[in-house]
Amino acid sequence: MIPLLSVERLVKHYAQGGAFARRGAVVKAVEDVSFTIAAGETLGLVGESGSGKTTVGRAVLRLELPTEGIVRFEGTDLATLSPAELRTLRRRMQIVFQDPFASLNPRRTVGASVAEGLEIHKMLPKREIPERVAELLEEVGLDAAYAHKYPHEFSGGQRQRIGIARALAVEPSFIVCDEPVSALDVSVQAQVLNLLLDLRDARNLSYLFIAHDVALVRQIAHRVAVMYLGTIVEIGPARTVIDAPKHPYTQALVSAVPQPDPTKGTARIVLAGDPPSPSNPPSGCPFVTRCFHPMKDSRCAAQRPSLRLVAGRDVACHYAD
Ligand code: ADP
Ligand code: MG
Repeated sequence: MIPLLSVERLVKHYAQGGAFARRGAVVKAVEDVSFTIAAGETLGLVGESGSGKTTVGRAVLRLELPTEGIVRFEGTDLATLSPAELRTLRRRMQIVFQDPFASLNPRRTVGASVAEGLEIHKMLPKREIPERVAELLEEVGLDAAYAHKYPHEFSGGQRQRIGIARALAVEPSFIVCDEPVSALDVSVQAQVLNLLLDLRDARNLSYLFIAHDVALVRQIAHRVAVMYLGTIVEIGPARTVIDAPKHPYTQALVSAVPQPDPTKGTARIVLAGDPPSPSNPPSGCPFVTRCFHPMKDSRCAAQRPSLRLVAGRDVACHYAD
């Protein structure tokens, strides 16, 4: 069966900007990333800030042109589409941002923002739009009368619900959720997460769910991909990976999650130093400069490990087993 989304060997390099940039220096934001997402499936994408998560999400939606690699949606290579065909397909692929202000125009009513996609894609006769907007607001747990209000009149959680209604309006089958609850209070995070779960089940949505919070991803994702310095270092079923991580980087990430039962948790692994610059990554294993694996050796510095199957997940470590 063709997956809904397939990403093959995605690479994104940025020319390094700024007055002090070395000539020809490139930021290797994403290096050789591959994954698939099936209909109704959620892939979590975790990793520390700067590891390339947002770049992957944007390249998948072609908001950013990949340097190399192929993104297929229902088997169609997005690079082969005309601008008009791409616009039509965009309706099926939406994004929810960390900061809903990024997608909401402060001078437009909530109703106008939610209706925008319906109008652009001419999905309904004009007179039917207000009723549809009311339904969408109710679907995300808001009062239909809020359509006449402006974004600044709402709390962060409500604004994120509006951002979700706006994405849903055009009936997508796939949504990139880029840290959708990171900016919210913890109590509100759970509510918005539950909304995303309910919507996924009701509409058979697929999500690429980007987060730095591993515990959150464990709740929503079927599978998880762990990114470090632009590459996937571990990918597999969310519980397999998060409950028994094999890559030392994943082990460090997971060890930072507070345990409800302190007698059960393993000791927190604090990584030494900062991640290397993506414009000058180590040769060999990208994690070699911070790795604490007891078997780390000259092979790790010389040879980049490929993903390989170990205990039910794929892991890029020479010594994962
Ligand atoms: P994450 O979402 O995991 O925090 P990003 O995908 O935003 O990571 O960024 C990955 C790397 O690419 C970072 O080093 C970031 O500084 C760099 N980067 C992102 N966007 C650009 C851009 N437009 N120009 C240059 N560098 C960029
Ligand atoms: Mg990001």
